[in-house]
Amino acid sequence: MLARPARRAAGPALLALLAAALAATGGCQNWLDQSMEPPVVNTPPYAGQTPPPFAPPAPFVPIPPIPLTPPAPPIPSKCPTMRVRVGPDRTNATLATASAYEIQVDGKTVFRAPDGLRPASVSRRGGLWRMGKASWPGQTLALLPQGDAVVTLDRTAYRGSMHLHAVGSSSYLAVNHLDLENYLAGVLARELFKDWHAETYRALAIAARTYAYYEATANPKDPRYDLWDNQASQMYGGLAAETPASLAAVRSTAGQFLMAGEPGKLAPFRAYYSSCCGGVTNPAEVLLGKNPSPALRGGVACTDCSRATFYRWPPVRLSKRDLYHAVSASFPQTRGLGGLTAIRVASEIRPGRPYWLELIGPKGKTARLLADDLRLAALRNSVPGASKLYSMNCRIVDAGSSFEFRDGQGFGHGVGLCQWGAEGKALQRWPAEKILLHYYTGAQIVRLY
Ligand SMILES: [Zn+2]
Repeated sequence: MLARPARRAAGPALLALLAAALAATGGCQNWLDQSMEPPVVNTPPYAGQTPPPFAPPAPFVPIPPIPLTPPAPPIPSKCPTMRVRVGPDRTNATLATASAYEIQVDGKTVFRAPDGLRPASVSRRGGLWRMGKASWPGQTLALLPQGDAVVTLDRTAYRGSMHLHAVGSSSYLAVNHLDLENYLAGVLARELFKDWHAETYRALAIAARTYAYYEATANPKDPRYDLWDNQASQMYGGLAAETPASLAAVRSTAGQFLMAGEPGKLAPFRAYYSSCCGGVTNPAEVLLGKNPSPALRGGVACTDCSRATFYRWPPVRLSKRDLYHAVSASFPQTRGLGGLTAIRVASEIRPGRPYWLELIGPKGKTARLLADDLRLAALRNSVPGASKLYSMNCRIVDAGSSFEFRDGQGFGHGVGLCQWGAEGKALQRWPAEKILLHYYTGAQIVRLY
């Protein structure tokens, strides 16, 4: 259901290509193959958790406008796989699955079983993976359940497969591989309140799909994973987090992406979103120092988020000493200052909204830093009070041994869709598509598979 009128007919050759690609691949795993039954998991440790069934989406209907020449990065013609890093590094974890499965080490199958894996402890020692009584040498260990079965990692259920990557001699990180659509069902449930409007869910489904796809294809961060399961990317809780509202929103928008760019060069973009913009959205410059997409130019008036607790927030003080430790730990250009005695707002996005800061040390040395990076450093390094510095939509005032952040507005970076604002608009009967095109200037919504 797209409310936008067609502006340009899609090229028949491209439509044929997309349809052929879809027919050849069967589309998105779990979604288009009606013969696939959803997993029914009824043995410990998931007793009582039956993954809700996935209905196949409506027949493939290309929605114009569709780019006539290949954009960059390449658009997906079938549901892509996401690799999501879950949790911190660990030295021990328990893996389980209720179905037939295989274990792969460094990509080679080392064990197969026709029935489920009872919870098994996994650890590393001396370059060996140890799982129950078995051990194998190698760098990666993967648990691959058959079909649509579910894996659990420390009793949290995930769709797809679980891949462990060695970090040093005894610890490892866990990465959940699963298709984009199923991933989103575990994202929306963590990003939105349970009782929020269905159109808010649908809008965020399209934005979060676009963001995840962009991050996986155009912004590589690590050879082992594409996304984090927290606010460094998007919140994600696996199958365990899914709700009827998140599943319904993903199903009803399956394959729909936001795209922007010049005619013929449309591409998914980094569809940022945040909790509460505080009255007007920010351009992507506040995060990146430049703007990668015309859809993220900001400046969109938004008072529908005024119901949010943090639409306005009280002054908060952060110690100069703590702030200096935080910025010098995260941003090397500030390390030579020798301390932090003053902050000057070097430029503003709009009157009263800091953009670039000049940090001044005790001997007069200076360093430039994005205002939002100051907040990021404070949060990353757990500076006391930083959790109450809800945004950089505020004034910075010298208060002796600390800085006071006054007249605060909004929560988060304020770039792209405003979640509280979207909810306000949905309550005024705005459909998801109208909400999205309000926040992402000039963007288009295109169904790609
Ligand atoms: Zn807002």
